[in-house]
Amino acid sequence: MDVEYTIDMLIQKILTDDKQYDLSKIIGAYEFAAKAHEGQKRSSGQPYIIHPLAVAYILLELGMDTDTICGAMLHDVVEDTPTTLEEVRKKFGADVAMLVDGVTKLNQVPMFNKEEQQAENVRKMLLAMSKDIRVIIIKLADRLHNMRTLNFRPGIKQRNTAHETMNIYAPIAHRLGMRGIKEELEDLSFHYLDPFAYSEIEHILELKKKEREEFITSIKETIAARFQDQDFVNPPQIDGRVKSIYSIYKKMFVSHKSIEEIYDRYAVRIIVSNIGECYNALGLVHDMFRPIPNRFKDYIANPKANMYQSLHTTVLGKKGIPFEIQIRTWEMHATAEYGIAAHWKYKEGIQRSDKMDKRLAWIRQVIEAQQTSDDVEEIVRIIKTDLAPEEIVVMTPGGDSISLPVDSTVIDFAYRIHTQIGHKTVAAKVDGKIVPLDYKLSTGEVCEIITSNEQDKGPNRSWLNIAKTNEAKSKIRLWFKKTCREENIVSGKAELEREFRHHKIRIPEEDLEEFLADDLKRHNCSTLDDFYASIGYGGVLLSKIIQRLRDKYNKLYNTSDEETETSLIKPVHKITSGIVLDKIDDLTVKFAQCCSPLPGDEIVGFVTRGHGISVHTVNCTNYQAALKRNDPEELARWMEVQWTDSKQTAMQTGIEVVALDRIGLVLDICTVLTEQRIPIIHSSSRILKNGNALFEATITIAGTDQFKSVVEKIKRIKGVMSVERARV
Ligand code: MN
Repeated sequence: MDVEYTIDMLIQKILTDDKQYDLSKIIGAYEFAAKAHEGQKRSSGQPYIIHPLAVAYILLELGMDTDTICGAMLHDVVEDTPTTLEEVRKKFGADVAMLVDGVTKLNQVPMFNKEEQQAENVRKMLLAMSKDIRVIIIKLADRLHNMRTLNFRPGIKQRNTAHETMNIYAPIAHRLGMRGIKEELEDLSFHYLDPFAYSEIEHILELKKKEREEFITSIKETIAARFQDQDFVNPPQIDGRVKSIYSIYKKMFVSHKSIEEIYDRYAVRIIVSNIGECYNALGLVHDMFRPIPNRFKDYIANPKANMYQSLHTTVLGKKGIPFEIQIRTWEMHATAEYGIAAHWKYKEGIQRSDKMDKRLAWIRQVIEAQQTSDDVEEIVRIIKTDLAPEEIVVMTPGGDSISLPVDSTVIDFAYRIHTQIGHKTVAAKVDGKIVPLDYKLSTGEVCEIITSNEQDKGPNRSWLNIAKTNEAKSKIRLWFKKTCREENIVSGKAELEREFRHHKIRIPEEDLEEFLADDLKRHNCSTLDDFYASIGYGGVLLSKIIQRLRDKYNKLYNTSDEETETSLIKPVHKITSGIVLDKIDDLTVKFAQCCSPLPGDEIVGFVTRGHGISVHTVNCTNYQAALKRNDPEELARWMEVQWTDSKQTAMQTGIEVVALDRIGLVLDICTVLTEQRIPIIHSSSRILKNGNALFEATITIAGTDQFKSVVEKIKRIKGVMSVERARV
């Protein structure tokens, strides 16, 4: 079903475009590529040149410049033909050669191969991006065409490519604001990842097509009639918008909604001439239709991190059918549709170089953030989480807006402003009031960081648990890496010994270095001390390697697996699930991550805003700091709490979670269990036939209430579809 692209189609498109293209250079690149690829075929059986032509065409539609089109035409010649980069440089100049080189390097780095290599690969990709963003734009177009023609590839290849596209390329397209490319990549991947769900939604949409079209047409007419006698510079453009299949799927399955419950299933977009008109149009719309409370979002005043701007509101139409309205200017529209590519498409006329800088700054941030990380899962998580659309916008006292991922704390905010501010943070005020450092910020809040004057003031290790962004975590780790080698060695050694004890690994001192040799090499450590230091600052995560070490130990020292298995299951009798609050009973209780109190510790509670009570140890630095500040208003929020004298018999139960497969899923579930202080006795996960993930665990639970609350919490995890109690 792929279009047979020809150079004539491309030339036609260039001639009808009002941009100044160097046609002869583009034709030259085409002829050069056609000759180089001569005789080669695509999996579809078509001549290979179809592919570079298609990629060039996609980029032309995006409005990219001559060099990018030439780069696209030549993007596979160095990799797949005897042509050298030098030849490309001689014929087409340094810029085109640099683009081809960038794409070639990206192609040589498959994202989902061996774990150790993956980190390096993603890093290379980001480096290529930061050098010249056009490299990744070519790569996205390349991927788009490969996805469009994926049906010619073998089944396993389809799944892997679709997976990679969904996890890496679609989020990058989103981050660069390229909506059209992002949605098409998502829909195509989704089609291969879950063909059933895809065709089901496609089918429903088809059934309702007529109904939808009639509804949207009548809304458009109603709005247009009302706008007619108003003062608009130009008549506003009103379009009906079709939601992508994947975005409907996400809303249906992730938030357990039926298609009728998806408010923005019907959507209308209004494009006007200037910002003032956006708000005028909004007023008129709200006058015509009843707005649904809490569904209004002003992304003009608070742009998303990918620079997206619009007003969003959901209103009730005829027969009470809700629909979404987006209102924006033409410039915002260009940014929303083409994202970073709008920079080339509308080079003249629209001032956007500072926006471009902001986007590129993000890429630099990601690269910096992962310089200290050898952990693939973390890097992929950076791309996914730091790219996630869920963002908050927090203000500095000076009125600058800072966007951060949802759940970011004041620590993240401090590090985002400046590394040194992060390191020297001692306290923070939100909207003028002192808050604990693990306070989770929300959109619209003004956050002020109070720093210490001490020269060598540094972060606290516990901040690694408080920080949400990888940027902050990496900076904290880096500080410990740089400043506290001795301490890192000591704490790293202690941590390793503790883990070994826990897993019954007993290695004689003199054999240890040899036993760990592989891991030393893997993490670029030349001595045991280096390795300890890496554990100490968090560069090496023991939880990630301990399983392998245990297997190795069992093999080498011939401990039977059975013995280790049983030793892992520790009898749990005393579960201190509840704590008694001095005055108030019915509040949710969570354990502060800064000091992680355990049963038996002396504890105090802090009344958070809307998140129940957070329990700290009496020795916690946050509590001690509060005592020192002696601010009566703040002190009033600390209260006495005690552990229950719990002799409840704990019981074991099984739990089964079915969810959309994604990276980090198991981690998220385990985090919930750990946060609730629920011991996991055994767990496993696998992929079901339909592509969903099944996570099974045996846990120790204090009673049905606790079980219910855990189920509720797990259900809130992204992608989770069902949580059931199961036999042990
Ligand atoms: Mn290609």
